[in-house]
Amino acid sequence: MTTTIPDSEALRRASLRYLWMHNRDWTQMAEEGEPQIIESGHGVRVTDSEGKSWIDVNGGYNSVNAGYGRTEIGEAAYEQMVNLHYFPQGTTTVPMAKLAAKLAEITPGTLSRVFPVSGGSEANETALKIARAYHKRIGEPGRYKVISRVGSYHGMTAGVLWLGGSPYQPRHDYEPIYPGIVHAPQPNAYRSTCGGETPSECAVKCAEAIERLIEFHGPQTVAAVIAEPVAIPQGAVVPSDEYWPMLRQICDKYGVLLIADEVICGFGRTGKMFALEHWDVVPDIMTVAKGVVSSYLPMAAAIVKEEVADVFAGERNILRHVFTAAGHPVAAAASLKNIEIIENEDLVENSAQVGAYFKEQLEGLAIDHPLVGDVRGIGLLLAVELVSDRDTKAGFAADARVPERLNDKFKRQGLIFRINSNILNMGPPLCITKEEVDEIVHAIDISLWELEGEMG
Ligand code: PLP
Repeated sequence: MTTTIPDSEALRRASLRYLWMHNRDWTQMAEEGEPQIIESGHGVRVTDSEGKSWIDVNGGYNSVNAGYGRTEIGEAAYEQMVNLHYFPQGTTTVPMAKLAAKLAEITPGTLSRVFPVSGGSEANETALKIARAYHKRIGEPGRYKVISRVGSYHGMTAGVLWLGGSPYQPRHDYEPIYPGIVHAPQPNAYRSTCGGETPSECAVKCAEAIERLIEFHGPQTVAAVIAEPVAIPQGAVVPSDEYWPMLRQICDKYGVLLIADEVICGFGRTGKMFALEHWDVVPDIMTVAKGVVSSYLPMAAAIVKEEVADVFAGERNILRHVFTAAGHPVAAAASLKNIEIIENEDLVENSAQVGAYFKEQLEGLAIDHPLVGDVRGIGLLLAVELVSDRDTKAGFAADARVPERLNDKFKRQGLIFRINSNILNMGPPLCITKEEVDEIVHAIDISLWELEGEMG
């Protein structure tokens, strides 16, 4: 069915009047002829209500790993929906039991006890509760502090929103701050804040900073360290190889649980099924969301090492933590089909190979464009940091409106992008081809030429 433009306009007006869109101001959107209303999708492309086709370079907040328009996932969900649409956790259902076993099979080490929830924030809230409750059960009730890194993102619910922190997500509306959160530096070698000059020094110093924080606060007060294997808000920050093994070793030394937030990195995004496999590190708790179901439905989980989960066995040790929609069987059926597609089509390998090609092409842009300060990332989790001066790494004056202007240019080229200040983030579906990468890079090239021409 083709939607006519008047229908599209009516939808736009309804959205502006009634919908509270995330992180957007509806008055400004009205002035700019937004919101865009997306109607359909296939592969890496989506089509809006006016019939215009777009490449989703953002991959639906880096979540649509299997790509748009997978009818098999829809069919699996439909079959489950008509067979049994829901039954509460406390019992379980066929697809949820199968999904738990599948996640235990594909995650590394002894990660094998799956606590299902519906989104990344819930998964991280769950991981923090498990960490605190674990220490209480093993006789260390004073351990409640959680160390996270500045420039990380772990979600927006009332607890985890205080982890990480980035200038793009101000938090002051929601004070007072959640108690017990301690911030460590991010191993971002391009903008090192820990004194390390080279990527390797930066990684070592940032890991040592975590050890110093544990000692400063007293190990007997620290429950967990939480981190994304590759941090997203500062633009696909891949730490040097020393970092993750050191974090594992430090956490073991002080009896602190290591939580890996694989909400974006998991399910092939970085060219391995799970990003910590790049460093052969197994966390105590891994949180997953997004790619587990390619956002066909809400599904997420905290996946816990057997040794940690076993502490919760026995009637008196139960973790009191429940969500009505968690482990939804329709979402579980969709997740199983999604993982089957990722495996059968070797999308993890495609992410590694096409991701490497994509990064190479982006690095090529630096030759012609002085605005390109840094290109980083791994697999299909990539970022370009733009600067006004390569030597000083200075950003842009706010009144130059660089992100807004670039976004307009990308839109004219048919690209959906996510730009954080001066960082272009890329996380397209993992089924992307080299030809589609060429289209994106060509469009970025043209947009940068235009911008540089305007800036003189
Ligand atoms: N963790 C990471 C690394 C994320 O990128 C996100 C969301 O983008 C979350 C957690 C929160 O997930 P959700 O938006 O599903 O609550």
